[in-house]
Amino acid sequence: MKTNGMLGNAIQNLRDAVCELEHEYDKDLLDSLFYPRERTELNLMPLLQDNKIRPVKAYIVRHCDALGACKGGIRMTDDVSLDDATALAMEMTWKCALIGVPFGGGKSGIMCDPGKLSAHDKETIIRSFVRNAHNHIHPELYVPAPDMGTAEVDMGHIKDTISYSAGYSTTHGCYVTGKPVILGGIPGRREATGRGVMLSVLEALKVSGMKTENTTAVVQGFGNVGSVAAQQLALAGCRVIGVSDINGGIYNKNGLDIEALTLYSKETGGINGFPDAVDISGSDLLELECEVLVPAAAANQITAGNADRIKALIIAEGANGPVKCDADLMLEKRGKFVIPDILCNAGGVFVSYLEYTQETQQEQMTEEEVISRLKKRMTEKFHSVYKYACANNISMRKAAMLMAVKTVCQARIAKGYLP
Ligand code: NAD
Repeated sequence: MKTNGMLGNAIQNLRDAVCELEHEYDKDLLDSLFYPRERTELNLMPLLQDNKIRPVKAYIVRHCDALGACKGGIRMTDDVSLDDATALAMEMTWKCALIGVPFGGGKSGIMCDPGKLSAHDKETIIRSFVRNAHNHIHPELYVPAPDMGTAEVDMGHIKDTISYSAGYSTTHGCYVTGKPVILGGIPGRREATGRGVMLSVLEALKVSGMKTENTTAVVQGFGNVGSVAAQQLALAGCRVIGVSDINGGIYNKNGLDIEALTLYSKETGGINGFPDAVDISGSDLLELECEVLVPAAAANQITAGNADRIKALIIAEGANGPVKCDADLMLEKRGKFVIPDILCNAGGVFVSYLEYTQETQQEQMTEEEVISRLKKRMTEKFHSVYKYACANNISMRKAAMLMAVKTVCQARIAKGYLP
């Protein structure tokens, strides 16, 4: 299997874990974890508003279903690849195992830039993806959710395409999570990942003997995860001094008004030009003096090229794979506290699991219940990973990976290997 980019990172993280587990588990079992169960490439041919057929590549990867149906979002960007989807599906396997939900790891990619599409054309492409992928999406096979470039509204269109194609008004069971609440979604799902990031940061501050009110935070990315993480950190009492999106960053050493920034970004479509802040480049933003840095945008943002200049004490991985493996070692040597993605951003899939059970049992959960269960699970899992890391004198990433891979191995053994 190719080992460049995001997939290279995912494979390296798994290799590091497997090396430690060779004395505990069968080698063939450990080796099998490198191979996804399914890697499918689709060529969509949607007819767009200009009356032209626009070929669009799409991918579905199911990495491992030892614990249950594969779970993982749909990434819609112009550069997503089959290897990226594979890396992200692997991460989902470990994330689900670590956070304790009965799901395996999956991911989809749709290769086009949603920023360049009208809402109508985006809906057409999403519906075309679902029609082409209908044999792959099922409550007991693969259940998608939002990821970069997709959101609640798209999940609503997915549910509608599935039920409409079957001739029903709704689906039986949960085919997709992160839907609008009115279509069977769950309150608090949209905020779950960012809220989970904040909860992890608060626990990291506690174990590091730091006080929230003296904490400055910087957030890269102002989409679903980044904007909510920034709001939640500000509500928790941190001073959010810098934020960026794809077009650059903004900075105010006294703290940004995140509520006003959220409104501004909704009105203008970005954060540039926000009053009461100075512009700063996206790369300088990562190197700002602060206590907490939340990379919540793309992968591979902290590399061997900038890891030595990162000043934050705590790096909370809101994004998937924002720190490259070599950079990770550099941060570890410098004593930085990295909260790994499979723990830090697992709040989203945990609340997706609540949505899945709610829809399966045809019940309704309140936002208070969702928030309280999320808080309990994120806090407990943070501390079990922290305890394991301290007991074995290893990083939080290694501890999280070892715990997750062991859980998956135990499920494989419990299932047996035949046929
Ligand atoms: P999104 O599409 O809602 O937002 C992405 C944001 O990142 C946008 O503000 C965009 O402008 C910004 N961005 C993109 N490239 C950037 C760059 N190079 N520098 C600075 N900003 C950049 O996506 P999202 O759902 O918030 O996902 C962000 C990350 O979090 C991804 O890595 C995703 O896999 C991960 N994640 C998302 C969820 C979820 O529930 N949505 C759950 C777990 C992990």
